[in-house]
Amino acid sequence: MKKEKSPDKLDRIVADARRASGEREQGYRARALRLYPWICGRCAREFDRDNLQELTVHHRDHDHDNNPEDGSNWELLCVYCHDNEHSRLIDAVYGDMAPAEQEKAATFNPFADLASRLKDKK
Ligand SMILES: [Zn+2]
Ligand SMILES: [Zn+2]
Repeated sequence: MKKEKSPDKLDRIVADARRASGEREQGYRARALRLYPWICGRCAREFDRDNLQELTVHHRDHDHDNNPEDGSNWELLCVYCHDNEHSRLIDAVYGDMAPAEQEKAATFNPFADLASRLKDKK
């Protein structure tokens, strides 16, 4: 019997989570593109099949897990306007934080502690 090593298992969990979020993104993007005209909601740039990859789905409440069937949480934005939208959010969220806190938020790794706890287990 092969013994399972914790770090491999952890890698697989992380990889699974990444893949799941990729699939989920494909799902809601396809649905949003069926629901809405292919136009950026900010700069009104129009898209067709040739440049559709530059049209992205923005979540109005910034919660990527909130994907109601009627599309009410989605907005189609070109990559530039989408970037803009999120840098404004970052300003709003981190603007009042002390620099040390900003750093903590940026480097926070939910698995760091888990990995050391798995290692300590005998
Ligand atoms: Zn735009
Ligand atoms: Zn967004």
